Amino acid sequence: MREQILYRSTRGTDRVTSAQAIVSGIAPDGGLYVPETMPQPIADFAALAKKDYRGIAREVMGLFLTDFTEEEIAACVDAAYDEKFDTPEIAPLAKVGENFFLELYHGQTIAFKDMALSILPHLMTAAAKKCGLTEDILILTATSGDTGKAALAGFADVPGTRIAVFFPQGGVSPVQEAQMVTQTGGNVCVTAVRGNFDDAQTGVKKLFADRALGADLAAQGVRLSSANSINIGRLVPQVVYYVYACARLMAEGELAPGELLNVCVPTGNFGNILAAYYARQIGAPIGKLVCASNRNRVLFDFFRNGTYDRNREFYLTSSPSMDILISSNLERLIFSLVGEDPEADRALMAELSARGAYDISPDMAARLEMFRSGFATEEETSAEISRVWGEYQYLLDPHTAVASAVAEKYRRESGDAAKMLIVSTASPYKFTGTVLPAVQKAEGKEAEAAGDGFAQARALKALTGWEIPAAVTDLEGAPVLHRGVCDIDRMEETVRAFAERG
Ligand SMILES: *Cc1c(COP(=O)(O)O)cnc(C)c1O
Repeated sequence: MREQILYRSTRGTDRVTSAQAIVSGIAPDGGLYVPETMPQPIADFAALAKKDYRGIAREVMGLFLTDFTEEEIAACVDAAYDEKFDTPEIAPLAKVGENFFLELYHGQTIAFKDMALSILPHLMTAAAKKCGLTEDILILTATSGDTGKAALAGFADVPGTRIAVFFPQGGVSPVQEAQMVTQTGGNVCVTAVRGNFDDAQTGVKKLFADRALGADLAAQGVRLSSANSINIGRLVPQVVYYVYACARLMAEGELAPGELLNVCVPTGNFGNILAAYYARQIGAPIGKLVCASNRNRVLFDFFRNGTYDRNREFYLTSSPSMDILISSNLERLIFSLVGEDPEADRALMAELSARGAYDISPDMAARLEMFRSGFATEEETSAEISRVWGEYQYLLDPHTAVASAVAEKYRRESGDAAKMLIVSTASPYKFTGTVLPAVQKAEGKEAEAAGDGFAQARALKALTGWEIPAAVTDLEGAPVLHRGVCDIDRMEETVRAFAERG
């Protein structure tokens, strides 16, 4: 018998099954669902090492989604982690110098969001059936670039679902934008918003909280849900690859019994690193969790000072998926730091929305001892891509380069000699405008990223011999199907019009 795990809101006393949490996305009180108790730690890690990615996914997801049958989970896992990934390993590990890179970019949109978003539609439709829902599910998503396409690819033409994506106009890479505006499917709506990612995300959260909108949509047989990383159905599949990486490293003798692995994660919304924290709690041999930020270093300052303060300049960087000042998933960590007290969590979140900042107590700070943090400037990020290519002929995208630079700094400054897993979150071919000049520099050539993304991709291939992923070549010449642009305060109208379109 598996122990049953229920989910509770970080801001209230609401308790629901995992299926209910997945179809709702966010709790009605505005909080995020968290497991009421963590599953028992995995006792036999060595046994896991004999399984492949899908086998480990079934095992780990089964621990969290206890109201799903084993067959249901297996069906979701098998439908998600198949030939859509360009390698049967799904999440390959590369040993580069002293570090291991966990490549999470082998799915259909070549960023780590595929790890969760290729399974979420299956979990969502299975959960809706379980909950006896008859309405269409309308997925509402704000994206800093990668979530949007991964969610579109996952939900396009999935019966019983529709998906509306909002991205910050001019705030995503050319390849990211091309990926979204060329998306096919009869149930998709893609709109650029005049604002940055935080504006778009705040706009989406408002729509979720808007009862009048909810009631009107319900009358039309439509129910809103979320594919953002606030959905527990995204977080749980992300725990899997940390367990998988540890099991693989143990099987290959890279990690001895009892040895701990540090993990460095390029962080934006705090979903990926939170999954590592959960993996650690269920027994993955993880030591330090190193949170890597780009120039938008709100999390770095939080870990250093105990103050979360979003009142600061917002920068567009070469790692746009980390250009975030409100890291939604941090609330789940805060909830655990306040001793799972919803009152205390609510008070801090109310401060965040009222004055844009909050301070944590010394007691809370003391519970953060497994976290470390660092940031990389734009110059450091490019230099890291050049360095790693020059020394190892290994290509990093800018997000991964932020993590790699932070991992090096951490090792140097702390003297911590534990092995380091660096989470590699996007294909270098998604961000050729940054990667190509950095590689040219490493090769002693003049840096000139001329032409569009496709010309840059061909130049990068000529220089490195790394294959251009089909996800990029397929985009060339694909027709633009979505040209909508709206102001933040018109997002509701856009959603209403889309819902009406049926
Ligand atoms: C989304 C994303 C991140 C940030 O992940 P979070 O879970 O939001 O912290 C980092 N890198 C890439 C390439 C991403 O797409």
